[in-house]
Amino acid sequence: AQRARLTSAAGARSASASGEYDLAVLGGGSGGLATARRAAEHGARVVLAEGGRLGGTCVNVGCVPKKVTWEAVNTLEAANHDLGAFGGYSGPDDARSHVEAKIHYPTLKARRDAYVERLNGIYASALKNAGGSGGSIDILREDARLWKDSDGHVAGVEGKETGTVASASSVVIATGSTPLFPASVAGAAELGSDSDAFFTWSKPPASVAVVGGGYIAVELAGMLAALGSETTMLVRGPQVLRHIDPQIADVLHSQLTSAGVDLRLNTGVSAVTKGSDGLLEVASPDAQLPLGMWDKVLFATGRAPLTQGLGLRDAGIELNDAGAIVVDPHHQTSIPHVFAIGDVANTPGDLTPVAIKAGRTLAEWLFNPAAAGAPPLDYATIPTVMFTHPPIGSVGLSEAEAVAKFGADAVKVYSASFTNLFYGLHEPADKQPTLMRIVVNTADSERVLGIHGIGRGMDEIMQGFGVAVTMGATKADLDATIAIHPTAGEELRATV
Ligand code: NDP
Repeated sequence: AQRARLTSAAGARSASASGEYDLAVLGGGSGGLATARRAAEHGARVVLAEGGRLGGTCVNVGCVPKKVTWEAVNTLEAANHDLGAFGGYSGPDDARSHVEAKIHYPTLKARRDAYVERLNGIYASALKNAGGSGGSIDILREDARLWKDSDGHVAGVEGKETGTVASASSVVIATGSTPLFPASVAGAAELGSDSDAFFTWSKPPASVAVVGGGYIAVELAGMLAALGSETTMLVRGPQVLRHIDPQIADVLHSQLTSAGVDLRLNTGVSAVTKGSDGLLEVASPDAQLPLGMWDKVLFATGRAPLTQGLGLRDAGIELNDAGAIVVDPHHQTSIPHVFAIGDVANTPGDLTPVAIKAGRTLAEWLFNPAAAGAPPLDYATIPTVMFTHPPIGSVGLSEAEAVAKFGADAVKVYSASFTNLFYGLHEPADKQPTLMRIVVNTADSERVLGIHGIGRGMDEIMQGFGVAVTMGATKADLDATIAIHPTAGEELRATV
């Protein structure tokens, strides 16, 4: 390997015996960037290797372009389904008519792509300007792997293309995950699409089958249906979002259906083949019966940790059966100075903010002596939102999880089912329901174990309730808080 010194904004530095860098980070996604920046703030000399676009999955093919599309779809729905309820119309006053609003998808995509590119640039300059007390970040602009010194110890990272070596005292692996096609479905990887591909489509397909019932499947199916694709969901289990309370899943089922999604529960898939007309046929495992033909088949069947080609096995780093790097509560791998955070690690909650928090916590432990004794991440109360129509917000234990942990006698659920005031003037068929559920532990002063809800505004409501649950609020604390009226959130403190 050629040993080349990297150049930072602050200029090239000379190598030191303990390594040119204090920290090498593999991966420039949300977790890797957060780790590098926090370490540099505390004076660390950091090298970050990233061959792709800065920002990783979330910025480029995940949260950010997804949320932009979701907002676009919500606005379209508001124009077509809600504005009329308030007397909205188009055309001259004497001929109040309703013209269906549409989204010119190439324009949306071009603007969305430009927005993401702007964010890529912002990340690049943030890295350039990062650092304090002598800290800085150099970027190795290529995919890299672990580098072992002549003694066979992991001693930094090595660019796969140029062989550039950056030696470092500690290494953080933050390479994230990638969409997974099920190996059991013949033709899936060859003919199917994944969520990365969704963001490249120049127009929504005329017809699409979404395989899976997890986060990505419910979000993308809702958006595709609203954008005009004839959308079918093929879900192998009896409900979407297996981990949420069935009452909430039921509301989502009815809303997906009324949005025009052909929701097929208990429907496994075994093969995808291409017909002479170019349409994709999906077969079920039962006698290979055809389930239908679609322009696109989108697999949203989970994600796999990105560990290939990093030299992990060669270095002796332990992986679990799912291929994730095994770490302890301090993100330490089986090699003490090599750490892993985010989707690539076997920690719960494959979510951007979890990776960011893990990276920052790790950087504090490593480079801020004042934070050396800070506690590890608490994964029990991670708030999350599914950007469905309407959105789902959730924090803490579901009813089933609470019963499994505390026993049925100690678990009580308060729930509120209502129609948001927003729909006060809508026709009955156009009103979207809201359902909120509070799971409490009656054996512990009705401490709130979880809050879950589906309905308009649930996405923005949940962060504050996440704080309350993390702080250990009881049902009485929620009720003692004065309502903000009229809002949906007030129902979470007056539920009976
Ligand atoms: P999930 O693990 O959430 O869901 C995977 C889905 O695919 C499940 O319904 C699963 O069914 C199904 N599935 C798996 N294998 C097969 C198969 N062979 N045939 C049919 N169905 C199958 O993964 P996603 O890909 O949706 O998302 C990955 C992660 O990304 C999420 O867990 C989440 O952490 C994150 N994410 C978060 C978002 C947010 O915060 N809003 C948005 C998008 C992603 P079963 O349940 O039966 O196993």
